[in-house]
Amino acid sequence: MLHMYVRHARAFVAISSALAALLLVVSRVESLSSSASTPPDTREPCHISLHIHDPEGQPLTARVRVTPASWRERLRLSQIDDLRRVADGGELTLTVPPGSYRVFVSHGPEWSLAEFPVAATPNARNESAVELAREVSLAGWHGADLHVHTHSSRDAEAHGGVTTSDLHAEGVELAAITDHNHIGTLDGFDSVGGAEVTTWAPEIGHFNAFPLRELPRWSGTNPVALLKELTRDPRVFVQINHPRLDDHIAYFKLGGFDGTGFAQPDFHLNAQGLEVWNGYDLARPEHVFALLAEWRRWQARGQRITATGGSDSHGAPSHPPGYPRTYTRAANANQLASELRGGRAFVTNGPLLELSVNGRGPGDTVTSSDVQRVKIEMRVLAPSWMRVDTLELWADDKLAWSTAIPPAAPGSPLVYVTQLEVPAASARVIQAVAHGGSGLDRLLGRSGIEPLAFTNAVHLTNAALAKR
Ligand SMILES: [Zn+2]
Ligand SMILES: [Zn+2]
Repeated sequence: MLHMYVRHARAFVAISSALAALLLVVSRVESLSSSASTPPDTREPCHISLHIHDPEGQPLTARVRVTPASWRERLRLSQIDDLRRVADGGELTLTVPPGSYRVFVSHGPEWSLAEFPVAATPNARNESAVELAREVSLAGWHGADLHVHTHSSRDAEAHGGVTTSDLHAEGVELAAITDHNHIGTLDGFDSVGGAEVTTWAPEIGHFNAFPLRELPRWSGTNPVALLKELTRDPRVFVQINHPRLDDHIAYFKLGGFDGTGFAQPDFHLNAQGLEVWNGYDLARPEHVFALLAEWRRWQARGQRITATGGSDSHGAPSHPPGYPRTYTRAANANQLASELRGGRAFVTNGPLLELSVNGRGPGDTVTSSDVQRVKIEMRVLAPSWMRVDTLELWADDKLAWSTAIPPAAPGSPLVYVTQLEVPAASARVIQAVAHGGSGLDRLLGRSGIEPLAFTNAVHLTNAALAKR
């Protein structure tokens, strides 16, 4: 062991010497070239001031990302991560080394996004007034983050926890505050107090529940007992969180779920909601599609469980809240639980998606003789900086129809509406998905995140089906 260590140490010294020699050469080349054109003095800090407002001139809390203008500039500045801040009340002053930057200002996916260059130089006024405007909205629908950790979650301490400003900056309108085994709310934000029941000894998974007055037993319990305890108050909405995320916190893995049944006793699918999309899967749509496929099969068998999405953010800026988010028609956070229990919801990381079947929406039931051929209307909305590729209609677990969405005119938001009639005599549920495209990398400063939205199911029933 010691012999190996000495050999490795010798090799390390040799590599270190070679690197040092290389750096010496590089620095000589650098000093030669710098005598030709002197680079900016990086010791003198500069200030970038932003004043952000809406079209009425009202200050707008927004998210700001400042990135070096090129890879070359990023290397010169030795800045690996983008600067990410919230401009609370629309005002922000950043201190940066002199350099060339690009600034992104955003207020979530329903609003315009501003992107512009800034040459930060000492003693210059780098002031910018930025106007953002709402580009799309679906009347009556409000985006909610159903999985939010504040500083009251112990594992959020390192990340700061989500704040009121973080939620406002992303255009999130409502939230369920779900700290680990702690009931809390967020001052100044329309939120409902809940908790992420985080089980222990044995670990049976994580469950969001709201509104909550008191915590259930989270240790030494089982899924049946826990659900019974939580739903003693009929107003409470209970969802199974991140059912396949990691191992020791994933309900489906802990219960030995094979897609139809559980190997472990007392595990069940009787919760009212299933977190089909957790924020840790933001850039892993394949995980979301796999869960959606499973969820569709249960819907087709008559098992009603609302598909939800929540960020599981433990603190911006590295993991901003609101991605994904769940839209409902709840006018305030106190109405979230009942809307979700009814399945009147869609989930998205950006595009807005509306589905109606014979005039009924997700969570509703289309009854009796009118189900032989059903009239479908779907709407997909997205801001001008986002592209959404594909719209799909699913009947039970089969793809019934799909289309490529034509791009919007440059600079215009996407407003795509389609109407069709499909035979649906034997289907129990109809559901829509919009996915693919681009634009979220500019909003989130991360690559690999594609636009994705899916609705809950519209249920179909007729006499023939009832006999099945
Ligand atoms: Zn969790
Ligand atoms: Zn969580």
